[in-house]
Amino acid sequence: MSTVAAISTGMAPGGIGVVRISGEKAVETAQKVFSSFSGKKLSEIGGYHALYGRARDEKGDIDNVIALVFKAPKSYTGEDVVEISCHGGLYVTNRVLKAVLRAGAEPAGPGEFTKRAFLNGKTDLSAAESVMNMISAQGEQAEKIALSVMEGRLFKQIKEISDSLLYDMALLSAWVDYPYEEIEELSGENLSAHVKNGIEKLDALIKGFDKGQIILEGVDTAIVGRPNVGKSTLMNLLSGTEKSIVTEIAGTTRDIVEDTVNLGSVTLRLADTAGMRSTEDTVESIGVERAVKRLESAGLVLAVFDSSRPLNEEDRRLIGLCRGKKAIAVINKTDLDGNYLFDEISENFAKTVFISAKTGEGRQQLEEAVGSVLGTADFDCTGAALVNERQRDCCKKALDALADAQTAVETGMTMDAVTVCLDSAVENLMTLTGERATDMVVNEIFSKFCVGK
Ligand code: GDP
Repeated sequence: MSTVAAISTGMAPGGIGVVRISGEKAVETAQKVFSSFSGKKLSEIGGYHALYGRARDEKGDIDNVIALVFKAPKSYTGEDVVEISCHGGLYVTNRVLKAVLRAGAEPAGPGEFTKRAFLNGKTDLSAAESVMNMISAQGEQAEKIALSVMEGRLFKQIKEISDSLLYDMALLSAWVDYPYEEIEELSGENLSAHVKNGIEKLDALIKGFDKGQIILEGVDTAIVGRPNVGKSTLMNLLSGTEKSIVTEIAGTTRDIVEDTVNLGSVTLRLADTAGMRSTEDTVESIGVERAVKRLESAGLVLAVFDSSRPLNEEDRRLIGLCRGKKAIAVINKTDLDGNYLFDEISENFAKTVFISAKTGEGRQQLEEAVGSVLGTADFDCTGAALVNERQRDCCKKALDALADAQTAVETGMTMDAVTVCLDSAVENLMTLTGERATDMVVNEIFSKFCVGK
């Protein structure tokens, strides 16, 4: 395989910038642009060793850099790798990369380093994919899921299922070849139990997918309510900044103010919407319309009510709009006096939380309510989890094939029919892990990565 290079650090000025070179000629190529202050050559040092020196191109010195050598197969890609760390200015890092390319390396494609790691057996496909989740993780729980998949938890679970099915298939094929031999392990009950076990495990993975996605990707959250109930104040409480304008004049948030915040294990993409009320003001009414649209498309709704005022028609309209949605009633301003009964609200929401957005009281309860309504509170972030649609799709197809296999066993269909179903299940599980993924699938996956990863 060719020797490739790319900038592996972000495209913004930083303390250091790293140019990564991978391939058979990585050391030789790096040596052409690098000379150590000690006079030692990169080829003279072992893996996991580094030299300090100067990077140069045809115009002259570029920067003082550190060249770190990894020897195959003990590297990220499984090939020889050299990482040149220079000062992280974009100009400097780009100039080092250009020098390396001129010295003979080819520019690495998107995800090329991780793709090589997969092709060289350093990682399975599901673990390689979770590198993307790791990079984009916005909170602790998301990072935990990515790490657990990267460490191979998903691979292990899927492999256990497919190994047990492969074993059954081997017995079935032995039985087809030697029908008069007694094959002890091969009984309808054993087969049925294995298939059932596979179905249960895959079903649990698929059921957890949506919750995992909420933790990994965050959830669109609309803060809605009539004017002056404290939507902007709540938004500011959650985001910890003065993003939304808080005033005593009703109707001040005329458009949508957005922010991303971590609440417990979940990342909420918050949108503070215009207060819902009938209005003559054109600008405000556009805002109200947008608020309704936001509510309808949101994955989570925080419906805010004012505990110091009785419910009115606008509040009731909001209650109606929230029906069938994942919505939490947030009864605000508990620091004020108000003796209203809110049964009408709590009857209509899965969770009702009392809060003072002004003092911050009740924030913890809101956090718990969010975890409970989204179902993320009981999600085990350290177990096996599916991290993207592709994996879910493979699991679903395998599950369907196993359901067919179960029916075939139960209805006494031929063993051939059972084998066909098991084969389809295994095929899909191996596509998931990459053991049998086609080039097209592999290329498609890595094309979504960024260059340098
Ligand atoms: P919005 O129109 O729903 O966005 O409401 P704002 O967040 O702009 O708040 C309207 C008014 O209510 C402001 O004067 C806030 O200071 C006040 N307010 C908001 N939350 C609370 C609260 O929890 N307690 C009290 N006492 N006042 C609040």
